Amino acid sequence: MKNLIICAALVSSVSFVSPLAAQSRPADNVSEARLRADIDTLVGFGTRHTLSEQDNPARGIGAAVDWGAAEFRRISQQCGGCLEVVLPERMVEGARIPQPTRLRNAVAIQRGTERPNEVVIVQGHIDSRVSDPLDWKSDAPGANDDGSGTVLVIEAARVLSAHKYASTIIYALLSGEEQGLYGGRLLADWAGQQGFTVKAVLNNDIVGGSCGSDGYCDDKTVRVFSEGPRADLTDALRAQQRRNGGENDSPGRNLSRWIDILADGDSEGLDVRQIWRADRMGRGGDQVPFLEKGYPAVRFSVSVEDYEHQHQDLRVEDGVTYGDTPDEMDFAYLAKVTQLNVRALDALAGAPMPPAPRMEAAVSASTTLSWDEVAGADGYLVWHRRTDQPYWSEGPMARVAADQPHMTLELPGVRGDDWIFGISACAADGQCSPVASAVPAGAFEPVAKE
Ligand SMILES: [Zn+2]
Repeated sequence: MKNLIICAALVSSVSFVSPLAAQSRPADNVSEARLRADIDTLVGFGTRHTLSEQDNPARGIGAAVDWGAAEFRRISQQCGGCLEVVLPERMVEGARIPQPTRLRNAVAIQRGTERPNEVVIVQGHIDSRVSDPLDWKSDAPGANDDGSGTVLVIEAARVLSAHKYASTIIYALLSGEEQGLYGGRLLADWAGQQGFTVKAVLNNDIVGGSCGSDGYCDDKTVRVFSEGPRADLTDALRAQQRRNGGENDSPGRNLSRWIDILADGDSEGLDVRQIWRADRMGRGGDQVPFLEKGYPAVRFSVSVEDYEHQHQDLRVEDGVTYGDTPDEMDFAYLAKVTQLNVRALDALAGAPMPPAPRMEAAVSASTTLSWDEVAGADGYLVWHRRTDQPYWSEGPMARVAADQPHMTLELPGVRGDDWIFGISACAADGQCSPVASAVPAGAFEPVAKE
């Protein structure tokens, strides 16, 4: 047991390694021209509707998924076979899939050198649609929705595969999103079957535009959506959160806070607008099946959506052009969202898992925080905020060296009722994980462990 006593009056002056200091270089290699070329290739498949042709090499979802897998293999050849390419598949049927249909995802795995079982997932959906969700015949270019997320994932694989990471990065092109999040569910199930510890899921869906149909534009901000109370809470944990707090401290919410701070560290890059809801009003995305299984996940999406250029038949009506075509996109913006994803993946794949902290403060004038050792952690940062504050304090209140299997931090004179605490784990190079909150179900692991 490590007992580290810190005088409450001094805690704010303890020195620390800032997670903001971590600047990742791979993001500099993101190419707007390659993103643009890949969008043209995707649009060239005519439609990528999940119910479209599977065996036509030139048109339909089959050709598109095959192209994505081939692109991953080509990237792998350039890094000495560093990517393993797999195509998880299953038969699916449902309200928007009237016949049993073969559904395939294209997935590339870049195995971690130290902790290959820990995974960070970046994903987009490769399928597309027009106005009628069952119309699999009409051209459905799906340039922004979600060609943009698809090409972001492929570009991330290109630039990150030149580097080695302690934990695994998974690049995933998902099918079946528009028919009911089938590809996301398949990948979440597959990740569970592999026995992976999922550190973070970055879902990118509609990330390549900056203007709305009303002319309002914003090319400086990207939205990051995160859930409040986690989807896999049990009744018992929900009752504990009602009593003790934690409704604003799900792993996804802390991942969102971490991405926001990471983005603030790059003055050239996009600012993050955190949206504290699981997705847009009345809509969903492939982060949802991961959240339902208890995996930390967020959705990246444009600051301003353009409803005339998503889920629309290609047409001109009353002088208005409809359809999700490349000419409506902003490729410089897409490159910036890609850079932010690459920076996040670079940092997450190098950082340890966030700890699973516990807090004892009931009927006491002091607080005790404790957590178990985290693989790959060289030290831990302790964070705090008032219960009515949205963000963690600017700097950590303490840094604790990782020299014991069971860490304990006593905070005399700190009345725990008034604070929320969290811990992040840092690698030797100073790369720190997102903060995990010391609240019921604050740990970055499914409530029901697999
Ligand atoms: Zn979409």
